Amino acid sequence: MFKINEHYLKLPGSYLFSTIGKKVAAYTAANPDRSIIRLGIGDVTQPLAPAIIESLHSAVDEMAHRETFHGYAPDLGYEFLRSAMAKHDYQARGCDISADEVFISDGAKCDSGNIQEIFSTENRIAVCDPVYPVYVDTNVMAGRTGTYDPDRGIWSNVIYMPCTAETDFAPELPKERPDLIYLCFPNNPTGSTITKPRLQEWVDYANREGAVIIYDAAYEAYISEEDVPHTIYECEGARACAIELRSFSKNAGFTGVRLGAVIIPKELKCGDVTLHSLWARRHGTKYNGAPYIVQRAGEAVYSEAGKAQLAEQIAYYMNNARVILEGLNNAGYSVSGGINAPYIWLKTPKNMTSWEFFDYLLEKAGVVGTPGSGFGPSGEGYFRLTAFGSYENTVAAIERIRKI
Ligand SMILES: *Cc1c(COP(=O)(O)O)cnc(C)c1O
Repeated sequence: MFKINEHYLKLPGSYLFSTIGKKVAAYTAANPDRSIIRLGIGDVTQPLAPAIIESLHSAVDEMAHRETFHGYAPDLGYEFLRSAMAKHDYQARGCDISADEVFISDGAKCDSGNIQEIFSTENRIAVCDPVYPVYVDTNVMAGRTGTYDPDRGIWSNVIYMPCTAETDFAPELPKERPDLIYLCFPNNPTGSTITKPRLQEWVDYANREGAVIIYDAAYEAYISEEDVPHTIYECEGARACAIELRSFSKNAGFTGVRLGAVIIPKELKCGDVTLHSLWARRHGTKYNGAPYIVQRAGEAVYSEAGKAQLAEQIAYYMNNARVILEGLNNAGYSVSGGINAPYIWLKTPKNMTSWEFFDYLLEKAGVVGTPGSGFGPSGEGYFRLTAFGSYENTVAAIERIRKI
């Protein structure tokens, strides 16, 4: 008789967003006349920029002719996209990353979930708390996290780094020694970020302790402040300890198109073995690449027209963030984030739990957000709103919240 991967059975409850979906569906069924405004899930709403659409169209046309048809993409991605990323995302910022250290993929969720495969199951992971659930859950599936304590909402073999108002929503160096450290800045869900000197401390720590940092830079494009690093490779020594994850989802609206990348510098080694060689082996063995047409669309992100159009898109979302931030501030809420990220993190009023506030906001205002406790125990008492809605809906939602 076959056996299943029993680690899957350890995963608690259902995924955060499916619980939210069920609650909203139940509310809508009971109150069919109320309009609901969703400021919850982290999906973009603006259509793809014209430069990207144009590039997609012309790539589709290429596929129609024998001479320009493309079959399987190269394992690690097309040279044109790897070069564009190395040049624009790294070399232009003075970071020493070359095209052959870029691995093109179909998005950062898969990459952030899959990257743990190249490490021993004996490694201990450290995560921020609250955190993007993918990092923890995929390590649960791999059997790296020990046992779950349902009362405290924590795993016995995970090092949690609380990110609360006291730490300015950034993690402090852990007291126990981790092997893999997941960091994400600008952060989902708190919208917080980290200054370059503080990120440098993490790089120095990882190099000193022999740990690897897995740095999720999915929200890099939202950075508006000067002293916030756009990539971990701005820090000295990061080539020896950091893997960076990039996504085209939030900067260019590719959530339904799918494109991302992993950066693994060749200096990142365990003894003689480069992590680069392991990830290349993995790609070659069980990944057949992001589609040609999508990689061409990704290339357009770096064109002059693409850059200008995407800057406008991000400004649109960040104007929503400003509306939420100012509106809630004026209404007396304690809020953070929303300056370098499309997420606003607010303290629930009157000591409500995150789920109590979820129900309260849904009932009283018809506004859907995300309970902070869904991202980890230190998220309890917090709530996430996102700037990804339309301007009109965002303004309406904040009006409704102010009125209650
Ligand atoms: C949205 C998001 C991603 C991007 O995921 P894709 O698979 O590229 O769409 C990655 N990390 C975090 C923290 C995110 O919020």
